Amino acid sequence: MHPFVYNANPGRVIFGPGSHSLIASEIQAMNAGKALVLATPSQSEAAHRLSDQLGELSAGVFDQAVMHVPIETAKAGIEAADKMNAGCTIAVGGGSTIGLAKAIALETGKPILAVPTTYAGSEMTPIWGLTEEGVKTTGRDPKVLPRTVIYDPELLVTLPDFITGPSGMNAIAHCVEALYAENANPIISMMAEEGIRAIGRSLENAVKQQEDIAARSDTLYGAWLAGASLGAVGMALHHKLCHTLGGSFNLPHAEVHTIIIPYVTAYNTLAAPDAIGRVAKALGVEKSEDAAGALFDLNTAIGAKMTLSELGMTEADLDKAADIATRNPYYNPRPITRESIRRLLDDAFHGRRPNVDQ
Ligand code: NAD
Repeated sequence: MHPFVYNANPGRVIFGPGSHSLIASEIQAMNAGKALVLATPSQSEAAHRLSDQLGELSAGVFDQAVMHVPIETAKAGIEAADKMNAGCTIAVGGGSTIGLAKAIALETGKPILAVPTTYAGSEMTPIWGLTEEGVKTTGRDPKVLPRTVIYDPELLVTLPDFITGPSGMNAIAHCVEALYAENANPIISMMAEEGIRAIGRSLENAVKQQEDIAARSDTLYGAWLAGASLGAVGMALHHKLCHTLGGSFNLPHAEVHTIIIPYVTAYNTLAAPDAIGRVAKALGVEKSEDAAGALFDLNTAIGAKMTLSELGMTEADLDKAADIATRNPYYNPRPITRESIRRLLDDAFHGRRPNVDQ
């Protein structure tokens, strides 16, 4: 056993179909006054319904959450919370809505009750993000960690198949990188392996039978473990590459993670055989060398986009992407060279089956 440091993130988790009915009692238990209900414009109707049900406990609705938390949206949210005398927020939605609640908490300290409706995992992390003039800044602050999280699989039956699949693979990617993190520890590794197992066995059903509550429960349970892993240990090549591709080429967040994770897994297989062996075991294949192929097959099974070209990248972008992704040194179990990353990107651009002997 390697020496390790383990910091537990505090938080109360309530899990189960129908558990959204506990939102009112959990708001009362937080003892922080009235709650501002946050949502994206597309989930506005559900937010207004919830606010009506909460009656006196609701301060109102702010339904302008958007991806990557533009600073203007954060300011408008803080203003709305003050104007409506909200002492806390309820974020019912995905990473964008929870991101807005975090921005409000960062400035005002107002505690968050998060009710995630995707698999992104932000509710389990003390990581905040804010975007100003196109540049996203992120940081860590325990203030932004939701105080209570309600995971209700029933709320995910409306998540369309084309969001469900990539969102689940995004969660798996958090788990894969947690297993070989520089500061990996045995507790988080157990959670990460179990997260891959839970999502691996259920994601195809969640995509193909959206209302399958058993599949939605398993995927959401896995997403919880994935979010906790992301919040507790550092990430490596995969997250760096996806950040580069998303930020510099304006590619969709979860879809990029979905395409890239089999290739990074292949890239790191020989350098982190124990960690990748656990990925393989969780996906029901025998050898660590088969883990990348199993992730590739899962992508095929869920009908995901399989090539960077389908996301709008051009072949000419690959050199620039390899340059940006290798400009600054960062931890990865296998050393990073521009040439090897350029090759990885080429495979992902064309959607070739990943090969561990890269
Ligand atoms: P999202 O929150 O933008 O949701 C995508 C779309 O799906 C939105 O239009 C949303 O309204 C809709 N939607 C969500 N749940 C739904 C449901 N159950 N039924 C129908 N529609 C639904 O996307 P996301 O992938 O959850 O979050 C992405 C954002 O989260 C990014 O900005 C990313 O950087 C951030 N993120 C942050 C962390 C962190 O730790 N800070 C972790 C993961 C992701």
